[in-house]
Amino acid sequence: MGRLIVISNRVSVPSAAGAAGAQGGLAVALNSALREHGGIWFGWSGQETAEFTGHLDMQRNEDITTATIDLEPQDIDEYYNGYANRTLWPLFHYRIDLTEYDRNFSEGYERVNERFAHSVFPLIEADDLVWVHDYHLLPLGSILRGKGVKNRIGLFLHTPWPPTRLLASLPFHERLVASMLEYDVIGFQTTEWLESFLHYVQKEMGLAVNLDNSIDYKGRRVIARAFPIGIDFAEFTQAAAGEEAQEACQRLKASVRGRKILIGVDRLDYSKGLGERFESFSRFLADHPDMAGRAVLLQIAPPSRGDVASYQQIREDLERKTGHINGAHADFDFVPIRYVNRGYPRSQLAGFYRAAEVGLVTPLRDGMNLVAKEYIAAQDPENPGVLILSQFAGAAIQLKEALLVNPHSVEHVAETIKRALDMPLDERKRRHQRLLASVRDEDVFHWLHQFVGALANDERGHDVAPA
Ligand code: ADP
Repeated sequence: MGRLIVISNRVSVPSAAGAAGAQGGLAVALNSALREHGGIWFGWSGQETAEFTGHLDMQRNEDITTATIDLEPQDIDEYYNGYANRTLWPLFHYRIDLTEYDRNFSEGYERVNERFAHSVFPLIEADDLVWVHDYHLLPLGSILRGKGVKNRIGLFLHTPWPPTRLLASLPFHERLVASMLEYDVIGFQTTEWLESFLHYVQKEMGLAVNLDNSIDYKGRRVIARAFPIGIDFAEFTQAAAGEEAQEACQRLKASVRGRKILIGVDRLDYSKGLGERFESFSRFLADHPDMAGRAVLLQIAPPSRGDVASYQQIREDLERKTGHINGAHADFDFVPIRYVNRGYPRSQLAGFYRAAEVGLVTPLRDGMNLVAKEYIAAQDPENPGVLILSQFAGAAIQLKEALLVNPHSVEHVAETIKRALDMPLDERKRRHQRLLASVRDEDVFHWLHQFVGALANDERGHDVAPA
């Protein structure tokens, strides 16, 4: 098998300290795959340049080769803040009310995809497997085909895929989807998103889908499949058992002085259902006066995409809502919602998860949701907490023993919080055992083997040793 060429909007390399702890599971897995196969991780440096030159900054770090390019301010505006995060992200999360359709954005998106293709093209050798990631780069495979790349090229989409009728609101949607059919493998997080995609291909393009979910298009065959992503289970459980995690766990517990802890950990994004979550917790407190002063919601929400207006708006809304709810339920020695806008090292996060009796993961729409899996992995198996999970997160398809909720129903979530806090130990343990097995067995390396196996056209998958 050839090398791997991983292409994503941004590149995440191991830090000099080699701290897997500072990275997400995806970066860890891709780094280990690159180490195993050899290859290059290509993407945007995150830096601006006055004029695009296509200059490649090649670096070698801990056996991983990365190649990055700088983009012009207009590129960043139109491609990243524009088409990716103001058009595709909201549309793919079923928010056409927030979706902006702007010709400049789509032109910028095309231009930057061309720039990616132009810069990565000379790096691709015969037999390399090319693996493109996410909604930023949907047409990249077809542009590479146009340049004569014959290699196997795969796409993995980390977000949901929207229903056909929503996608039809996007100008030039046919062209975008047709460009995706130039890949050899298209991977989705769950069968739900896969089915939406296949529905589109059948209804809007009039194409037949074969029994194995492959599609024949212009003399080529593309396979569409679900590959649910997981966490680096071994690393996360190790982090949860470590000293830093234990200290974080103890400090958090001591700070609430015997109260029950509910935890939420999310990027500050409107798809995460944070406003509805706060309302549900407030309803729970109002419905159960006996719980007044006995349960705390710790919501950790580092800001993201602050250049986009809808993200500024959600941030303001949440600040107002937190103030309002805390005003209504606080006492001189008690604040019900601790709302924290910052990130924490993963070891500390693991400790916070472990300290919490309830994990509240209630996105309105989410491709997968890794926080749900991290919460499970961090629990003490002898006294595990309860996961409350949105039925609209991709993870709900795997994590059936969580308490599944409709995050739009404040009443339902409030009742479920009560149920979780009252759940007897034997039921908690029984549910946790099954959840843990799923999170452990379908970890990020499993996902990696499955995808790379399919891309290499080796359906048995193949082994990539964990880092
Ligand atoms: P998304 O990819 O939409 O942000 P996921 O739940 O799939 O959502 O992944 C989020 C990742 O970011 C998780 O690995 C989580 O631990 C991490 N994360 C989220 N908030 C924080 C935070 N405050 N500090 C550190 N890591 C965070």
